[in-house]
This record gives sequence, C-alpha cells and structure tokens, in this order.
Amino acid sequence: MDMLTTFLFRAYCAAQRKYPEILYLGQGTGRRIALTFDDGPWVTTPHVLKALADECVKATFFPIGKHATYYPEILRQVAAAGHTVGSHTWSHKDLSRKPYTDIEKAKEEIELGVSAVAHALGRKEASFFRFPALRHPPELVKYMGQRNIAMFSTDMDSFDFKMRKPEQVVNAVMTKLKKFGKGIVLMHDIRRQSIAMLGELLPTLIAEGYRFVTLDEVPALDQYRTPTEETAPEDVPIAMYDGRYPLTAAAR
Ligand SMILES: [Zn+2]
Repeated sequence: MDMLTTFLFRAYCAAQRKYPEILYLGQGTGRRIALTFDDGPWVTTPHVLKALADECVKATFFPIGKHATYYPEILRQVAAAGHTVGSHTWSHKDLSRKPYTDIEKAKEEIELGVSAVAHALGRKEASFFRFPALRHPPELVKYMGQRNIAMFSTDMDSFDFKMRKPEQVVNAVMTKLKKFGKGIVLMHDIRRQSIAMLGELLPTLIAEGYRFVTLDEVPALDQYRTPTEETAPEDVPIAMYDGRYPLTAAAR
C-alpha cells in the first residue's frame, strides 16, 4: 500500500501516538473527512440530523451511555438515518483521573456506555469508541484491544464547545483542514450553536470538494463489527434508565 497516496484515518491521537494500531482506511489522495459528533443523544441531535440530511452527509456519533437511556428513540433516529454509532462511556468521566485509575471502575464506566448504546439500538455491541477528553490511559487502550472495540481520536478538534459564533467554528475547521487536507473532525451534537454552524460548514466543505467518510464504510474496520464470545466479558453490566435522571439534566 502506497503510504503517500493512502488516506490515513487515524485511530490514534495525533499528538500522543499511543494507540497500538493505525488503520489506513481507503486509497486515494482526495480530500476526505470523517465528521464525528460526541456527547449526544440530546434534544439538539435531531436538528443535527436534519442539517446532515439536507446536504446528504453521513457522519459518526459517539453518544454518552446515560444520554442514550434518556433518549433512546433519538439514538435510533441517528442509526436509522445511516450514521455510524459508537460509544463514549456511561457518564463522560475522565478515565485518567481518580477514581477511574482503579481499572475496574474505569471498565465499568466503559461497559455501561457500550451496553446503554447497544440496548437503545437493539444491538449486541457498540464496536467503536472515543475516550472522554481524548484521555486514554495505556491499560485501558490495552483493554479495548482485548474487547475488540476500535478507539478513535481526532485530527481536528473544532473546539465548538468553546466558540459562540458559527463562523468561528467554520474558520477553525477550515484552517485546520487546509493544513492537514483530510482526517477526523470532532464536534458535538449537544450544542445549539453546532446546528447553525453545520448550516455554514457543510456547504463550504462540499464546495471545496471534500468527501465524507463514516466508519461503517471502511473495510479495515470489519474485524470490529462482529462481537464474539471470546472478546466480550462475561459480566458486562446492563445500563437501564431507571427514572432517577431528570430529562433536563446538564449535558456535561
Ligand atoms: Zn465527549
């Protein structure tokens, strides 16, 4: 495989190359990007879906498990629209800090997130994963490898959670894209600003000739799609919405 003409879809953190494997997802030098949306499903998610549908764009979502139990029907809309759905832990805790330095607690936080997404979608597993705050302790990277769940970082953080004006986010993404040419863009589907931002960003990307890629259309990821008995632990916790969480709970 010609490395120079291969689209590198990085399953590792660009700044901290600690993930054990890098996947090359597809040939060609074209401008390809993977849009990813974290921290949903939320009341804002259907608006993000509409913005994507308006431009016929498919994306990848990393939902929080707890939110999947609040809004399972919204998460089903995401999957039904043809987007890829991974997971992003149960409650968005930084797994590099206490008490999650206790690996058993960290594993439970991960597994509850996986099972909440799987339960909402009626699937056995959620095969793709992103660490909250992109913090990935090495022992958990190893654990995800044993679980056969692919981890994803980002090439271009949009910092959409810091910026108020849509054009600021568009400028930030386009500036980074001009530098890298391709890669994974990190955004959030829990912010109202993201919806207005998409209305500007998507037409700009299309006009500049970018092609959108989702994790579901990548052959190199096939190995992660079918969970096996060997890779799934016996005592996976089952996450269920038990009515204790108010539907207006803070997203982060
Ligand atoms: Zn997040």
